[in-house]
Amino acid sequence: MIDEMTKSGHAIELEHRYGAFNYKPLPVVLERGEGVFLWDVDGKRYFDFLSAYSAVNQGHCHPKIIQALKDQAEVLTLTSRAFHNNVLGEYEEYICSYFGYDRVLPMNSGVEGGETAVKLARRWGYEIKGIPANQAKIVFVEGNFWGRTLGAISSSTDPDSTINFGPFMPGYEIIPYNDLSALEKACSDPNVAGFMFEPIQGEAGVVMPDEGYLTGVRRICSANKVLMIADEVQTGIARTGKLLACDWEGVKPDILILGKALSGGVLPVSAVLSSNEVMLSLKPGQHGSTFGGNPLACKVAMAALEVVKEEKLAENAERLGKIFREQMLALVERYEMVKLVRGRGLLNAIVINPFGDGKTAKDVCLALMKNGLLAKQTHEHIIRFAPPLVITEEQVLECCGIIERTIGELSE
Ligand code: PLP
Repeated sequence: MIDEMTKSGHAIELEHRYGAFNYKPLPVVLERGEGVFLWDVDGKRYFDFLSAYSAVNQGHCHPKIIQALKDQAEVLTLTSRAFHNNVLGEYEEYICSYFGYDRVLPMNSGVEGGETAVKLARRWGYEIKGIPANQAKIVFVEGNFWGRTLGAISSSTDPDSTINFGPFMPGYEIIPYNDLSALEKACSDPNVAGFMFEPIQGEAGVVMPDEGYLTGVRRICSANKVLMIADEVQTGIARTGKLLACDWEGVKPDILILGKALSGGVLPVSAVLSSNEVMLSLKPGQHGSTFGGNPLACKVAMAALEVVKEEKLAENAERLGKIFREQMLALVERYEMVKLVRGRGLLNAIVINPFGDGKTAKDVCLALMKNGLLAKQTHEHIIRFAPPLVITEEQVLECCGIIERTIGELSE
């Protein structure tokens, strides 16, 4: 019989032997999830403070979402878009009215949502704005992250994403984040079709723009006839304490990209929402995906969005996020190792001062893991804390206790 120790060692060994080394996970092998909890193959329970990069906002294996998955899985899963299916239209109506847009284009992964948005902006740029053929530009910001396709890494300023993957996509311009003057200047170029950005930069380490940035982006895009494209794949769907991070300043993007929690982490489901003007620039055969808009995904997404409203996840994220940051702020005062805390709702990060003999955020994550909380560093010195939004106040306080105890142990 394989003993429990060997079970996790064996699982890791198999990944090492047969998988590509494109990730460096913490050495924990998970086999079960429920709500805010994950269990490893040894039966040890952890608080999940990553939520699969904010895909599991509704909590692991949410019963309502899983029920929708099971019910639809027994009836019809995929038809492709060669035929109509009886769920797609219902879903399209549902999501458009949920977010207040004319039309939706369903895709699967977040990066496909981004690719779709870039294509839509280019198409709109040529056909509506009147940009000369093949001259369209999309403006991005430094530190952006929207996935790993060639289209996405072409806008990346992170060498890990780009080294030895060139040549890259032309027609991109990169400006500093949180810099409205740079945006104003970039958008004055009449060939700019769109400005694509995250309202809070998740992968960059929960980097927040100044108050007024989103309003400024909206104003500059409108004034220059440039599409404002908000990548809310990570920030959207209640994560930051509002349904969308753009709601914090009451601005409506021209193109909205959603993914991750759109399925509650059950399936890859992404969506691009926009106006008639933008969306109708696409004609049959000009964009698509075999799995996009499949009835299984549509049912799951509707259930996932219902849960967000029924369980008031945005309100919960806002309230508990404040408590979390207050607690973390106390750590900044108490421990040299914790430099600062930032974030909104339940998308937060602490920045670590290199400590001891050069220990980094990864060492903190390993120690947190031992103490029953799973989080992952982003870059060398930042730890993102993003629990499922179904977390309770009591659990948040318990987790803050685990974080404090861990920092305390490491500071000794
Ligand atoms: N956009 C943002 C803001 C993201 O954080 C991510 C993934 O982390 C993506 C897009 C890509 O999503 P996916 O990994 O589902 O392709």
